[in-house]
Amino acid sequence: MPEVDAARSFRKASVRDAEVDGRRVLLRADLNVPLEGGEVADDTRIRASLPTIELLRDRGASIVLVSHLGRPKGPDPSLSMAPVAERLGELLDTPVKLAPAVVGDEVEKMASELAPGEVLLLENSRFEEGEKKNDPALAEALAGLAGVYVNDAFGTAHRAHATTEGVAHLLPGYAGLLLEQEVEQLTAVRDDPQRPLIVVLGGAKVTDKLGVIDRFLGFAEEILIGGAMCFSFFKAEGRDTGNSLVEDEGVDAARRVLAEAEKSDTMLELPEDLVLGRELDAGTETRELNGVDVPEGWMGLDVGDNTSANFAKRIARAGTVFWNGPMGAFEVQPFDAATRAVAEAVAAAPGHTVVGGGDSVAALHKFGLADSVDWISTGGGASLELIEGRDLPGVEALQDA
Ligand code: ADP
Ligand code: MG
Repeated sequence: MPEVDAARSFRKASVRDAEVDGRRVLLRADLNVPLEGGEVADDTRIRASLPTIELLRDRGASIVLVSHLGRPKGPDPSLSMAPVAERLGELLDTPVKLAPAVVGDEVEKMASELAPGEVLLLENSRFEEGEKKNDPALAEALAGLAGVYVNDAFGTAHRAHATTEGVAHLLPGYAGLLLEQEVEQLTAVRDDPQRPLIVVLGGAKVTDKLGVIDRFLGFAEEILIGGAMCFSFFKAEGRDTGNSLVEDEGVDAARRVLAEAEKSDTMLELPEDLVLGRELDAGTETRELNGVDVPEGWMGLDVGDNTSANFAKRIARAGTVFWNGPMGAFEVQPFDAATRAVAEAVAAAPGHTVVGGGDSVAALHKFGLADSVDWISTGGGASLELIEGRDLPGVEALQDA
């Protein structure tokens, strides 16, 4: 993995410099994994948290680990951290204790009994109403569980919650290894990329990616746009979009972006051909369209071969590629072709390649290409906000280096 100069881009104290020997550390990680039948269906996020956990254990700390899981509206046994504790224990090859709650007397007792190297996983932080409200009382109770705080949860760093922000003001706060690398990698793309910088955007909604487009217009050499979001641009150009998924709220924004791109040095590249279907369904009738005016009764579900070949050619020439958002409805065959072609181009690109966005990352895994990319961001929303140039509360609240 290419190293990015940490000193240049990251201004926060690192867990590497924390004195933790014999101390209890409250570690916020992003263990928000998908569950299936009460088991962890994909342990990518747990694995991503291991380096910081192992560093802390090696250095003689005991660890009080906390994360949210899903979107419970209060205590909810189906979203207990129990399967996560079990999987983490397997990966660490040591039992991980599970607390019966997030805070409280019993949790305090369990925390105080931890020996160096031991890990206690708290229950789902969103079982507590105060988590999302960033309630000072909850932050206080969390801070009482440890003497040092480490935030490694990049995926929720854009949220000011009690476990990500509130508690960071009450204990000496350090960045975990994953959070630090995420910030370094994305900041490098944003501020100091190898040229040319090629930004590839897709996915469902243009408004989700507008801040990123604005950041890169006039900064990147090229912005390549696919996915359903291209239909907001086509509608702004007055083209027919048939039954394609069009985000109407995005059309004015797309019009403005087109006008600004015209005046800027950034080349904005839209699709030149499409793959159409009658409906978003694997068995649907399909056809290729050389052009982008979608006839009545059809929807654009992928960009066409000429477009993906053009995008691939440009990606191959890039010094840096930032990719966010699939080129089509890749979950449904045969509308995965262009996303696959772009994923293959990114994987083969000689430049520095960074991919963010839950669905784009899922696509990379699906095609077996995740290992061929330089950096895969674990944080969808957080990676977009960082690229947009916004401060992440979970990072800002940590002590400066
Ligand atoms: P990411 O999670 O990578 O940021 P988004 O969440 O923005 O990506 O968008 C991903 C979704 O967009 C996928 O579910 C995909 O099916 C959908 N999508 C992309 N192109 C199309 C299209 N032409 N028609 C319908 N859905 C599309
Ligand atoms: Mg998504």
